[in-house]
Amino acid sequence: MDGNWNLDAMYKSCDDPQFLTDLNKFDELISDFTQTVEHIVVSSGNITQNLETYLKKYIAISLFSSKLGAYLHLVLSTDANNEKAQKYRVQMSSKYSLLTEPMTKMELFIGNLQNLDTIIGESKLLLEHKFAFDEILREQKYILSPDMESIISKLKNTGSSAWISYKAKLIANHKVEFRLNDEYKIMPLTAVLNLAESPDPETRKIAYKAEIKSYKKIEEGIAAALNAIKGEVLTLTEKRGYDTVLEMTLQNSRLEKQTLEAMLSAMRDSLPMFRKYLRRKAEMLGHENGLPWYDLFAPVIEEEMQFDYQQGSDFIIKHFKTFSDKLADFAKHAIDSEWIDIYPKEGKVGGAFCAGIKDIKQCRILLNYGGTIGDVSTMAHELGHGFHNLCLDEETIINSRYPMPLAETASILCETIVKQAAVKEANDAEKIAIIEAEISDATQIIVDIYSRFLFESAFFEARENGYVTVEEIKTLMLNAQKESYGDGLDENVLHPYMWTWKSHYYGPNFYNFPYAFGLLFAKGLYAKYLEDTQNFPEKYEQMLKVTGKMNIEQVTQTIGIDVTKKDFWEASLKIITDDIEKFLTLTQKQ
Ligand SMILES: [Zn+2]
Repeated sequence: MDGNWNLDAMYKSCDDPQFLTDLNKFDELISDFTQTVEHIVVSSGNITQNLETYLKKYIAISLFSSKLGAYLHLVLSTDANNEKAQKYRVQMSSKYSLLTEPMTKMELFIGNLQNLDTIIGESKLLLEHKFAFDEILREQKYILSPDMESIISKLKNTGSSAWISYKAKLIANHKVEFRLNDEYKIMPLTAVLNLAESPDPETRKIAYKAEIKSYKKIEEGIAAALNAIKGEVLTLTEKRGYDTVLEMTLQNSRLEKQTLEAMLSAMRDSLPMFRKYLRRKAEMLGHENGLPWYDLFAPVIEEEMQFDYQQGSDFIIKHFKTFSDKLADFAKHAIDSEWIDIYPKEGKVGGAFCAGIKDIKQCRILLNYGGTIGDVSTMAHELGHGFHNLCLDEETIINSRYPMPLAETASILCETIVKQAAVKEANDAEKIAIIEAEISDATQIIVDIYSRFLFESAFFEARENGYVTVEEIKTLMLNAQKESYGDGLDENVLHPYMWTWKSHYYGPNFYNFPYAFGLLFAKGLYAKYLEDTQNFPEKYEQMLKVTGKMNIEQVTQTIGIDVTKKDFWEASLKIITDDIEKFLTLTQKQ
């Protein structure tokens, strides 16, 4: 075993005759789909039958195209410079745009049907997709004409999408220069960012200073990208008739405003506890005025737990088994079937992800496995995503599309199972290291995410009045950080450039609060699991099964959680702030 994933279940390579055949077949499917819609919208035939035909073709084309898309994505993520795959990926985006016009026509047609409920009621298939139909009705008033929707999706390829790739290229090729221990270094940005976790204080500080200074070279280009991308969003939001971008985001996320507000309010109340943690970490590292940004990720205690990949896999399977056999069996199957690309290598992207391939009911997981407890918990996290997909195996692709805030539920729950187990097996020093790492992660997901939410809200507001300059963007970022981190951080050593390399401002809007939702919801679920370890796993699987066909409030209700109430969020945050109390006690000076 070489640690590479095996993609043969999809295609052997971009030269595989089957791959080339499928690429052409996609064109045929698109034109067949378009003709079907053209026919249905003027047909006087049986509407129930027509809708069934549409739905079946829509499901088929979605499964088909997502397999092709997933394959290219997987190839490129381990071989970034594969030019063939790059070329095919661009082709795929143009092909996707061709689907916008027929889909819009069909959505408008469905919206105009007088007796949709009766029509749906006559067919089992349609009834199974009632939520999707209701969603089309809900969005009806925001849909523009088919021509307009079509030109928008084509223009995005040369507008926001082009800016996103340009920005990604600027960051990928960005180099940082500095002197460390009398040695001149020039390193890619991603490598410099990793130095934030270096055990050597001098390295962390020098790397941070060089990083901040280096952005001068690319700040104008990135600011132009941010202005263009968010400007396009504002134009479209207004044209579609939404009051705000946030309103549109909540609608797309199937989340009530009341729920978001309850969560944000609980998060705000918890900030003082996080600041106490940051100040303690600052003291431990010898700072007086709160933690400087460059020490946010500094290790406070040397962590010794090491797991090679085999040990990590065994550890995960063993502890997943305490939760449920189904979860453990899934993990074992994914590991044994070479679904995981394990180690870092040249041309491979950083980080980790899990990609589901619904068409073959499999998934692939990318890791950059090193051997720390953090790597084991990342592996558990990604397997959690895979398990979520497994629970959706019997659902159609339409009913499997869960919204962003629910996307991180299963993953974080699995991470929690493994981390809790690790704490139990650790010695005292390791315990502090694990708890600190967990609080540090939570600080990112609660405090930093809160700052990103504030920044993005402020940026949209500023962008409405015209171009936002680099200096203005930096000020917005610093203000958001001060309001969130308060006296936890040294206010003279913040990070005015966090909008540059973070990809989250350049994808879906407000790609921040879903993380907080994911963490806190998973914490709440774990607490429920501890109350009833016998029956919870089954209920939990049932909940994952419906994540793609209900509003979030309804999904969470199926397991007895009311996310519209602040109490729920407070209880989840208390689990984290209790850990902070524990950390403060463990690290008290005698
Ligand atoms: Zn995840």
